[in-house]
This record gives sequence, C-alpha cells and structure tokens, in this order.
Amino acid sequence: MRFSKLRLTGFKSFVDPTDLIIADGLTGVVGPNGCGKSNLLEALRWVMGETRAKAMRGGGMEDVIFAGTATRPARNFAEVSLQIDNSERLAPSGFNDADQLDIVRRITRDIGSAYKANTKDVRAKDVQMLFADASTGAHSPALVRQGQISELINAKPKSRRRVLEEAAGISGLYQRRHEAELK
Ligand code: ATP
Ligand code: MG
Repeated sequence: MRFSKLRLTGFKSFVDPTDLIIADGLTGVVGPNGCGKSNLLEALRWVMGETRAKAMRGGGMEDVIFAGTATRPARNFAEVSLQIDNSERLAPSGFNDADQLDIVRRITRDIGSAYKANTKDVRAKDVQMLFADASTGAHSPALVRQGQISELINAKPKSRRRVLEEAAGISGLYQRRHEAELK
C-alpha cells in the first residue's frame, strides 16, 4: 500500500479543497511559519483515526474544523481523504477489493466523525485496524512530532517498548487480543 494523495477540505487552515500529491520518493513541504506544514501531517494522522484532540493541538475534536478568519466565515465540517495505491493488493481483507483505496473522514459540528472506505460507511475501529496492520496509523513512529525525539529518550522502558512494538507492526495483534478479552 502506498499513499498517493491527501485532500483537505475545511481542515484547520485549509478551508478550500487542497490536494497534496505524494509522489514516489521523498516529498518535502516548505513554507513560512504558520503556513500549515504541521497541519498537513496532522491531517494524515487524523484520517487514520486519531482520537486524541491533544495530538491535533486542539482542546476538542471540532477544533480541526476551519474556525474562520476576518474575511471568511467558519465552516461546519472538515474532511480529509487519503488516497492509497493498492495495485499490489496488499490491503487487509475487507479493504482489498480495488486497485485504489480511498479513506475519508469527515467531522460535522455537533454530530461528530464518520468514516468511509471507497464510499462505504465503516467504523473508526475498522480504519484504525487497517493502518495498524499496515504498520502505520495515527500512532505510528513514522510520524514524528516536534519534541518527540527528546520524549522518547526520556521515556520509561514500558512506553519505549510500545514504540518498538508499533514499529515492528505487532500493535494490531495487541488491539485484537484486547478486543477478544473484552468479549
Ligand atoms: P511552523 O513553521 O511554525 O511550524 P507550520 O507551517 O507548521 O508553522 P501550522 O502549525 O501547520 O504551521 O499552521 C498554523 C496555522 O494554522 C495558524 O495560522 C493557525 O491559525 C491555523 N489554524 C489552526 N487551526 C485552525 C482552524 N481550526 N481554523 C483556521 N485556522 C487554523
Ligand atoms: Mg510546524
């Protein structure tokens, strides 16, 4: 599975639909302070099922919705869609019926989040599991926040182990075991 495009609509500072094309190789995003570089990474984290508002630098989940400026009114919803190249058909079962996989998350004020996979309604948990199995996802060590390196150095062994397990791609197994134990 390879990420090929990220589309943001009404997400944080990206009020008009904005596409970030993720080409083969390295993609660099440059721009002045406050232009929205970190917002792009947060959009990626969010569409993969992030549920902690703090990880999105907000007080509540609705803070990701465009809040308005002096010249533009606030929006009622935010949407991020992640286009994934699945031509090698490596997506987990349930998501593996097409060469392209589109995961969409939308949050509407006073209603909350809804997810779609190739236009079909899915649960947050399905999306989180999809990315956990692919060794990526909202908590993936591949996404490195500012200050995260020093956090890791100072972390307790248990939280450091969690990062290593995530990197080894076994955290999906833990989530499944936890779910099985609850049943
Ligand atoms: P730096 O180089 O300083 O790290 P950056 O390019 O990473 O900057 P971001 O932190 O991604 O910038 O973007 C911050 C901008 O996003 C601020 O101008 C802030 O006002 C805007 N912003 C954040 N949330 C919202 C929102 N809900 N509605 C409108 N604008 C928002
Ligand atoms: Mg930044």
